[in-house]
Amino acid sequence: MHKALLVVDVQNDFYETGSLPVKDASRINPVINKTMEHRSYKAILASQDWHPANHESFAVNQGKEPFSTFDNGKGIGPVLWPVHCQQDTHGAEFHKDISTENFDYIVRKGTHPHVDSYSIFKENNGADLGIASLLKALDIYELDICGLALDYCVRYTVLDALLFGFKINLIINATKGVEAQKGDVKKTLEEFKKAGVRFKEV
Ligand SMILES: [Zn+2]
Repeated sequence: MHKALLVVDVQNDFYETGSLPVKDASRINPVINKTMEHRSYKAILASQDWHPANHESFAVNQGKEPFSTFDNGKGIGPVLWPVHCQQDTHGAEFHKDISTENFDYIVRKGTHPHVDSYSIFKENNGADLGIASLLKALDIYELDICGLALDYCVRYTVLDALLFGFKINLIINATKGVEAQKGDVKKTLEEFKKAGVRFKEV
């Protein structure tokens, strides 16, 4: 049995100067690079939020304020966001300090205007993106997870991975939260602990 590394959404818009910034995000870059050097992984997967301009998760496209809670029951929500990670823009590119040459697979998500995808495994309407099957076909049943943002895309990715039966290790010093609501990071870590996620530092 093998292990994979998932690097979630290390894209310019989620860093300090981006449109949906995560505080101190750039501090995780050296840790992620060091982790990838280990090469004990059968595969390294990176996800990339990749939205069209008319994406319905953008608050402006709903006539609402960013960070409003919203759920249309069909895959948009529970939160509306500032415009971020628009396809083929600087904001959607991986951060320049991440050693992207180590990525074996890049998974683009959120590509359909009517559905958001926080998780690398499933769209927000529950549709399977096929990544769990890909990993299992490679005999991978354990995942190390890092990236942005801890309380959204990392959180949904971890919870889906558990449902698909993977053993999960969160690299705690290689992830940061956006805290759309104060306390989200603390809540997420408690939820992970209860669910059996192991925390490790690199
Ligand atoms: Zn997004």
